[in-house]
Amino acid sequence: AVFAASSLSQLSEVWSELSQASGAAERIAEIFDEQPAVKPPAHPLPLPEPPRGEVGFVAVRFAYPASPDVKVLDGVTFTIKPGEKVAIVGPSGAGKSTIFSLLLRFYDPAGGVIRFDGVPINEADPKALRSRIALVPQDVVVFGMSVADNIRYGRPEATDAEVMEAAKLAFADEFITRMPGGYGSLIGERGVTLSGGQRQRIAIARAILRDAPLLLLDEATSALDAESETMVQRALSRLMEGRTTLVIAHRLATVLTCDRILVMDEGRVVEEGTHASLVAAGGLYARLADLQFNQGPALAQVSLPAAL
Ligand code: ATP
Repeated sequence: AVFAASSLSQLSEVWSELSQASGAAERIAEIFDEQPAVKPPAHPLPLPEPPRGEVGFVAVRFAYPASPDVKVLDGVTFTIKPGEKVAIVGPSGAGKSTIFSLLLRFYDPAGGVIRFDGVPINEADPKALRSRIALVPQDVVVFGMSVADNIRYGRPEATDAEVMEAAKLAFADEFITRMPGGYGSLIGERGVTLSGGQRQRIAIARAILRDAPLLLLDEATSALDAESETMVQRALSRLMEGRTTLVIAHRLATVLTCDRILVMDEGRVVEEGTHASLVAAGGLYARLADLQFNQGPALAQVSLPAAL
């Protein structure tokens, strides 16, 4: 899933990470060409201080400008309470990533209302909104600069001590200090290469540094080696602590840590509940879980991995 930011400034505001798969250069070209889809309101409503991290969708309808006849979201309604952890699952094309793009206000819905902390997001300043959101994308982009600066990307004014603290919390400190140049190691063609799990922990450290009340997490689909998997899961559960979290989930361990699951299909929320209740209901989720998590009917009895 790729989040189409409609301008470069939007991109830097959420440090929205470009998909490796579709080619970063291509994506950047797209972003430059596209007109900003949304305009800040002339008199923005302030978002409440301190932020609570509450999200509400009411009857949200949406089609992408490129294909206005395709109903991507067709009346989506849900509420997420402050601190709640909610997983979004559903088949490819169901509209999961679009929920994130609308929350980040890359696009405005064709109908319905999206609220953050009670304020309709189209009436708030987009910068203020995005400063309250941290995005951890599927395909993490790292830049040809030091490991420390790659983490600092989450909050440019952070001190070295804060960068290291975030890296420790994200279980990244260990592999960073093992590099010959430590936090000063250059990443990229002429520097060190990071594994998939290491890149994810860099993204988690960025998000910890950003310290936003709402976390949008697009979980990686690609498998990591077992050790990385455990570290990433531990780092994620630490990141999610005390934050409202919306996660596009691909892993059983992740849905099991969530308070609630929203099941999407063809632009609608078709089921809602806990993993156990949805498996017992025997609907779309039960079929998806069976396929995706590759487990039998005993799934409802599965317990949390010790690492969590
Ligand atoms: P996946 O699990 O494959 O990432 P998803 O549930 O996240 O899927 P979305 O990415 O939200 O689904 O896409 C929903 C629909 O909108 C799909 O039919 C997709 O092809 C279409 N779509 C997504 N992005 C765009 C875009 N920028 N322009 C036009 N159509 C788009």
